[in-house]
Amino acid sequence: MKKVSIVVPVYNEEDNLREFHKRITEVMSKEPYEYSIVFVNDGSSDGSAVILNELASEDKHVEAYLLSRNYGHQMALTCGLDNAEGDAVITMDGDMQHPPEVVPQLLRLWEEGNEIVITKRLATEDAGFFKNLTSATYYKLINILSKVEITPGGSDFRLMDRIAVDAFKQYRERARFIRGLVSTLGFKVAKVDFVAPPRFAGTSKFNLRKMLHFALDGITAFSNLPLRWAFYTGLVIGLCSLGLLCHVVYVRYFTPDAVPGWATTTVSILFLGGINLIGIGILGEYIGRIFEEIKHRPLYLVSRHIKK
Ligand code: UDP
Ligand code: MG
Repeated sequence: MKKVSIVVPVYNEEDNLREFHKRITEVMSKEPYEYSIVFVNDGSSDGSAVILNELASEDKHVEAYLLSRNYGHQMALTCGLDNAEGDAVITMDGDMQHPPEVVPQLLRLWEEGNEIVITKRLATEDAGFFKNLTSATYYKLINILSKVEITPGGSDFRLMDRIAVDAFKQYRERARFIRGLVSTLGFKVAKVDFVAPPRFAGTSKFNLRKMLHFALDGITAFSNLPLRWAFYTGLVIGLCSLGLLCHVVYVRYFTPDAVPGWATTTVSILFLGGINLIGIGILGEYIGRIFEEIKHRPLYLVSRHIKK
């Protein structure tokens, strides 16, 4: 019998775990597969680890990897994908925003021969105007900037066949934007639409700072265009300044009205200073990431594997 692994990253989800386990079990017990639920506890500081321990002793389908600290959603997913043994691996959040009831649709498309089944969030019921707008703008931007195509409303709710998981495992970069990496893999891909309900319990673990960092990881990992833009902007402004210089020399030596001109000077200094800083900032984003990658540190450390 074929085996399906369900990978679930967990960070302070104590009030969601039992409900999630109940609902996914309801779904999977009707499926003609062996299955295992692989929780990855991403350094939770609440009772999540205790509950995972209990679930693992009550249900032989459950196992858990406890990471040594909080590494972030993408690393927790990576740990799950590295260790899951199924012929297909499904990744999904543990807060029921990736409804367990959608899983059968992923499985049917897998049976039809698709090696990757991605999902697209049509709407998030509790997302505000700001989150929807920034998300839509971001996906437009990243698709303009990079050659890989990333579905707007993409999420980390997906199914991957063993062949795709093994391919994915060869990508060991640290700045991970998994949905982008998956779309560079190729393979036969199908898509399922779903509506994300509000969180069952608890609050979102992403704040603005984490979202921004994640968004920049996505862009820098798949595009060098910002660097090129900094260069082109510099070039255009440099040429303009050259014209201005000729003008200044002309006024100084060939006309009687050499103006004090402090306004233009101040403005151009400020302007050029600003452009310089933007350029250096963009460089910094890339160099910082090179530095992180070059250290080749382990992506995550596991402190315990629970399997009864
Ligand atoms: N998560 C994680 N590590 C983190 C942040 C989040 O493992 O540092 C997990 C979290 O427990 C949840 C999933 O990743 O299962 C998605 O997080 P969340 O629901 O907070 O994100 P949102 O749905 O608000 O984008
Ligand atoms: Mg969520």
